[in-house]
Amino acid sequence: MVGRLQPGGHLSHACDVCARPVGDGEGELRVDERDVLDYPAAVRRFDDQVDRVAAGADPEDWEDWEELWALPRPARWVVRHHGCAGSGTAAFSIPVEEVRSVVALLRWTLVLHTRVWLPVTDWDDWVRRTCAAHGVPLTDDDV
Ligand SMILES: [Zn+2]
Repeated sequence: MVGRLQPGGHLSHACDVCARPVGDGEGELRVDERDVLDYPAAVRRFDDQVDRVAAGADPEDWEDWEELWALPRPARWVVRHHGCAGSGTAAFSIPVEEVRSVVALLRWTLVLHTRVWLPVTDWDDWVRRTCAAHGVPLTDDDV
């Protein structure tokens, strides 16, 4: 847990590389552009494998059984200090100071929902994890 959500709703964020807090102006929330672009091809490969098995191919022919049935993982949103590993790749990024409140997360959710690539990322999970870490669980049970 990063810390309980305080009145006023300040969200703190830790770097996913070094685990130190990321202050305003020190980093960003980002999703790697390559991971977003690669996801549809990974899903096609998965679907092709399923089709081949459905068409009668023996799943035992695959060397890695777990890889055969593993759905591609969505592109991950991560928090990075400027300069920490992985911070230099092409990415869609949001300055960390722009995701400091639950209202800010709602605002960004509305912005990001206009992007066709959002569903191939784990944005919803990141928002849930971030809010839960601050004592604000957002589960389906709350609806
Ligand atoms: Zn860092």
